[in-house]
Amino acid sequence: MTVKQRLDQIREKIEVAASRAGRNPDEIKLVAVSKKQSLDKIKDVLDEGILDFGESRVQELRDKYDSFEQEINWHMIGHLQRNKVKYLARMDKCKLIHSVDSLRLAKKINKRANMEDRQMNVLIQVNVAEDENKYGLMSEEVIDFLTEVSSFEYMKVKGLMTIAPYVDDPEEVRPYFRKLRELAVKIEAEKIPGVEMKELSMGMSNDLEVAIEEGATIVRVGSAIFGPRNYNK
Ligand SMILES: *Cc1c(COP(=O)(O)O)cnc(C)c1O
Repeated sequence: MTVKQRLDQIREKIEVAASRAGRNPDEIKLVAVSKKQSLDKIKDVLDEGILDFGESRVQELRDKYDSFEQEINWHMIGHLQRNKVKYLARMDKCKLIHSVDSLRLAKKINKRANMEDRQMNVLIQVNVAEDENKYGLMSEEVIDFLTEVSSFEYMKVKGLMTIAPYVDDPEEVRPYFRKLRELAVKIEAEKIPGVEMKELSMGMSNDLEVAIEEGATIVRVGSAIFGPRNYNK
């Protein structure tokens, strides 16, 4: 299958899932996860009108960042080490960090954004499935965390992100997506100054439809767009 055929399929899935849930498909942003994919393949996806790309490692993002003239919106979706934040802060086109998972990291982002005289928009990664192998705050920790970071001037919280466990039947992970949305609703009711709950980043190649039915505003899709990743490179 060509990239265009794959993208057509995904766009169709997004539309069908959105309409099942009575939602407008235009509210759902498709982020193409380009980790371990070549520049040529990224170019094919860009040519199909996708302008949002996600990477999970800072070094790989840096390598790709300067290779394109287009106004790409880059998303950092992977676990972020504090000593790498400075590189992201220098990238104007790094529009959203999906993976804020500790107060120490948040402080570093706020500090580095200040040094670059910019605002960095972030999502808080929540480990709703309480999976020992995954990063993210526990659901019960999130409100205290947000209260702490709400005074940060240069780092702004726009919503939540989660990674569901990998399962064959995506129905199994529906409760986790639902929990993330319920948490966002609860947070909104707290009216924490400066904290927004506009975005829910959830759903990947295998489970994007279920995630959209449960309220995803951003889906992060890799292999279903690009084909399998090349881990040998
Ligand atoms: C790799 C990755 C994705 C995309 O996974 P696919 O199954 O290829 O769609 C989405 N989110 C995160 C955080 C990832 O690391």
